[in-house]
Amino acid sequence: MGHKVDFACRACRYEERDLGVGRGRRPEPALRLFQCGNCRSIGSAWVGGGFVPRCSLCYHDDIALLADDVLAVACPKCGGPGVFTHRHEETWE
Ligand SMILES: [Zn+2]
Ligand SMILES: [Zn+2]
Repeated sequence: MGHKVDFACRACRYEERDLGVGRGRRPEPALRLFQCGNCRSIGSAWVGGGFVPRCSLCYHDDIALLADDVLAVACPKCGGPGVFTHRHEETWE
């Protein structure tokens, strides 16, 4: 089962909450975290199973996938320290 992730930037206060990560009942597609260079945001997108991963906000397909257990990344808005909080107890399927 997948879990939920929150992203927050301590510098500019940009945040995204309740992002789904991982797999549900089927092996594919899976939800992966991404960073979108087009609209400068963090989100999660379906990958695999014939899905072309797209930004869930602007639908651009030029996104950089992040590791499922990523802990920190430069904030796409301001370049400051962005932190991921993994909530493994909150699952989805
Ligand atoms: Zn920021
Ligand atoms: Zn985007």
